[in-house]
Amino acid sequence: MTGPEIPESHPRYESLLTRHRIEAGVDRGLTSRQGLIAQGRGEAFDYLLGEETIPSAAEAERAAAAHLLRAEHTVLSVNGNVAALAPGEIVELAETTGSDIEVNLFNRTDGRIERIAEHLRDHGAEAVKGLTADGRIPGLDHERAKVDADGIGAADVVLVPLEDGDRAEALGAMGKTELVIDLNPMSRSARAATVPIVDNLIRAVPNMTEHAADLADADRETLDSIVESFDADEALASAEQRIRDV
Ligand code: ATP
Ligand code: MG
Repeated sequence: MTGPEIPESHPRYESLLTRHRIEAGVDRGLTSRQGLIAQGRGEAFDYLLGEETIPSAAEAERAAAAHLLRAEHTVLSVNGNVAALAPGEIVELAETTGSDIEVNLFNRTDGRIERIAEHLRDHGAEAVKGLTADGRIPGLDHERAKVDADGIGAADVVLVPLEDGDRAEALGAMGKTELVIDLNPMSRSARAATVPIVDNLIRAVPNMTEHAADLADADRETLDSIVESFDADEALASAEQRIRDV
């Protein structure tokens, strides 16, 4: 799946690898064709950010890890791009933080949800939510509103990588603490987030796992102070500044 034809010495290795994974995801029926367009948008911003985790994103990743560790019920939402790009990394983050995994699609079909769930189980996921779909996010049309009542429906903290702006806003309006991974600091999704993580999913998820492992034995006060000292507006502003400076 990694595309052995891409030499690691290629200056755009990571970007080519990512494209290859999304293409393979479409071929396997995990990712929608719309996902290709989202990928293109993401790549453009990653290029402008220097294709690296900028310091404010690293801080956001640590704050997000602290949120996941201190909350009662945390859910990692997975869509077709996330499943294609970082399935094993999501499973590891779920295990390290005690989070549930829920498949949640913008272009929802039961077939695609089942294929993604199976793909995640192949990467070690024990339980995958999203198929029951007995809960609703208020304020969205029927298909896009569906969630599991005992998953995202009941969660206090949700990680939503590459989420559509509408749904990110609706989840926020439900009172959820939202951790959003989105390379576009001007995206409505990033702006709706409690913690906007302006970084590539393929770097952000393993970074969060590392922070979570590092904070595994931290006391409540330490986690609270990491969460409280994070400033979302400042993080968005420094990502925008970085784009202008490159
Ligand atoms: P808005 O949030 O303003 O409503 P949108 O949700 O309509 O915008 P989409 O194209 O649906 O925009 O969402 C894709 C988003 O995901 C883009 O903002 C893009 O930058 C981001 N994105 C794509 N690939 C990645 C990736 N690998 N890592 C992080 N973010 C990514
Ligand atoms: Mg968006």
